[in-house]
Parts: sequence; C-alpha cells; structure tokens
Amino acid sequence: MGVVRTIALVILSISFVVFVALFGRLPAFRRTPIAFLHRLLWHHIPNGVIFVDQKLSGRRLTRGLSRLGNYLMNEAHPVVLIFFVTLQVAGELLFIPSAWNRLTTLQTITIPVLVVAPYWCLYLSATTSSNITAGNHRKAMLAYPYDYCLFHPGYYCSTCRFPKPARSKHCSLCKACVQKQDHHCIWINNCVGRNNYIWFNLLLLTIAALLAYAATLGHTLLDAQLQERLVPSALTRGSFTAKRWSTRLTWTQWANMWAWAIGVDWQIGAVMMLCMMSCPLALGFLIYHIYLMWAGMTTNESAKWADWKEDVQDDIVWRAEVQRLRETYPRLPSDVEPEDRLVQWPQDVRAKWWMVRTRDGEQPTFKKTGSQIQDDTEASDVPDERWMRVRSMREVDNLYDQGFWTNFVDGMFNRE
Ligand SMILES: [Zn+2]
Ligand SMILES: [Zn+2]
Repeated sequence: MGVVRTIALVILSISFVVFVALFGRLPAFRRTPIAFLHRLLWHHIPNGVIFVDQKLSGRRLTRGLSRLGNYLMNEAHPVVLIFFVTLQVAGELLFIPSAWNRLTTLQTITIPVLVVAPYWCLYLSATTSSNITAGNHRKAMLAYPYDYCLFHPGYYCSTCRFPKPARSKHCSLCKACVQKQDHHCIWINNCVGRNNYIWFNLLLLTIAALLAYAATLGHTLLDAQLQERLVPSALTRGSFTAKRWSTRLTWTQWANMWAWAIGVDWQIGAVMMLCMMSCPLALGFLIYHIYLMWAGMTTNESAKWADWKEDVQDDIVWRAEVQRLRETYPRLPSDVEPEDRLVQWPQDVRAKWWMVRTRDGEQPTFKKTGSQIQDDTEASDVPDERWMRVRSMREVDNLYDQGFWTNFVDGMFNRE
C-alpha cells in the first residue's frame, strides 16, 4: 500500500505543478492562489536561485540554465512532442502484451483502433500549418471580418510586414502570423489555428477515449484477477450465491487488495493509474475547447475579452457607430481592409460598433480643422460626441459568435 500511495502522490504532485506552470497565467485564474503559485514558480523561485548562484559561482550556473531555458521556452523544438509520443508508446508496450491473452475478441479489435487514432490526429495536428504566407495572405484577409473591438484593420505585423488579418496572431515560436490563432501548443510543437483546429480537437477526443478505455480495461482485468484469487471460480462453479471479492471488506482491506493486484500485475496497474489521472486533463481540455466554440472565441481571443472586461469595469471603454465614424475615418484601401461583400462571413454580420479604450478614461476627442475653426480657442481638441461610454459587457457583441452549431462548423470545417 505504501508504495502505491507514494507513486500516486508523486504523480499527482507532478501533474499539479505542471498544471500551475503551464496554465497559472490564464485569465480565469487571475487573483487566485493558482496565479500566485504560478508567479512563485516562474518569478520568485528563479530569482532566489539566481541570488544564491550569484553568491556561489558568480551566476555561471544560472547563465547556462537560462540559455537552455530560453531555447526550450522561446524556440520551436520537439522535446515535449517526443516526451508525449514516448509516454504513449511506453504505456502501450507495457499494457497490451501483458493483457492480450485475457482480452475478448471485441477488445482485441477495439484496442488497435483506439491506439492508432491519437497518433494519426497528432501527426495531422503537428504537420498542418495555419501560417500566413505571401501566397495565402489575401485569402486569410477574406476569411473573417474585423470586429473593430479585438481586431481593427490597418495594423501591420512588424515581423511579417503585411496587414494582420482579423483573428490572426503572430507566433514568435513558429516565426509567422497564424490564421485564427488559438494558442501555440508545445505538445504538438505547432500553433493551433484555423487549419488544424479540427485535428487538435480530434486529438483531445481520441486521447481522452484511449485513456478512459485503458483505465476501464485495466480496472476490469485487475478486478477479475482479484475475483479469481479471492473467490476462485473452481470452488464456486454453478453457484448463484458466489460473492464478489470486495463484499464486506473494510476500506483499508479493499485498498490493500488493490495494492496487491497492482503490484502483481504492475504493467497493467501502473498504466491504469497513469491513465486514470491524466484522462481528466485531456477531457478538461476538450470541454474547454467545446466551451470556446460555444462562446465563439479562440484561446487568444478569450484573453483579449478578459482584458476588455476589466477595462469596462475600470470605465475606460468607449464605443461609436462605425457608420457615423466613417465621416472622419474613411475605409482603408481594399488590400488592408477588404470590402465587406468579399469577406466570407454571413453578409449581415459586420461590426456595428467601433470600440476603443482611452488611457485616462475620458471621451475620445477630435481636432477641428480648417473652416470649422472660428476662433483660437476652438483649435484645441474637443470631445467627440459620437463616442458613448460602455458601462457593461452586456452592451458588447461578439461578432464571431453565431451560435454553437455555426461556431462548431466554422471551427471544424472553415479551413484553407
Ligand atoms: Zn507576423
Ligand atoms: Zn506557434
């Protein structure tokens, strides 16, 4: 029991630290202990180590580590992808051979399908690019309209040197602007974007299915082992009152029996425990992405929306009708802001409101020019009455949210 508990605790702790390290900065965790732990992990502890190293070796150790860390964090590399594949292969090599003789025909048919599917989706997720190139830039510009909130026309990527299409984001790891960028995923060593979003979601689905199946199958096999050992069928054959092995055991006895079974069949036991613990993670991600599709946003956009929400609470957000602003801010050239009718998105769905946040929270101003100026005092900035303060996020529409089903179809099938 002691060993099993230790292994479980170690795996749980490592999972928790990895979770905090990777996701502690998500807007959902702002002002929670998770965000604090994230800061402790990435900021306070490294600073402490640097301080000690400064005293001991004049920062030689931490400089080397920081070069390695810099490479691991800021360059695209397949280390995590290799770890991911190794974990899968090792788990399957441990589990399948030792379980094979005890499987039913249906199970021997199901397993190859469930094993191959994640590799196939992983391969497609990792190799399908959503990068914007000179060749597909125009098409990318026509994929989504600007919503004049998260995405305004007229912004250029300083690296790629072309106008940023709506919903795109430059990825410093992929060294490219990515269409409908969701996030850069280190597990697939690629950005999740417009073209591989379907494969990424299928990867989550197939991995979750594989993990759930392996956990259930492992449980069934070990449970059968316990039944055979504790209530041998040879002795109870033909009896309708044969008991389940776990009947009338205390919790401690029950746990001890399981520890015994896991210890005897350790290949199946270890993989089963790992699957039980990692399945909720894969499932959690899948549910999060289904939620994002329901809300009509990408992971990148969810962070932007969280910022807008805070700015609205701080009373610094203003909006004006796009049509009314056209008097002073005409449309940009068609290669920077494509004509509405060319953009592939329901024709009646275009930005109505132009959103801005002002640094001081004051109403945006405009300068009177030429004939509008009657005396010197009017030459200065005057409040632009077309702008109205946004008091609640309820006043704000998400242009990219067309209802779950449409968002789902767009996410899966609106590909290049
Ligand atoms: Zn770029
Ligand atoms: Zn990327």
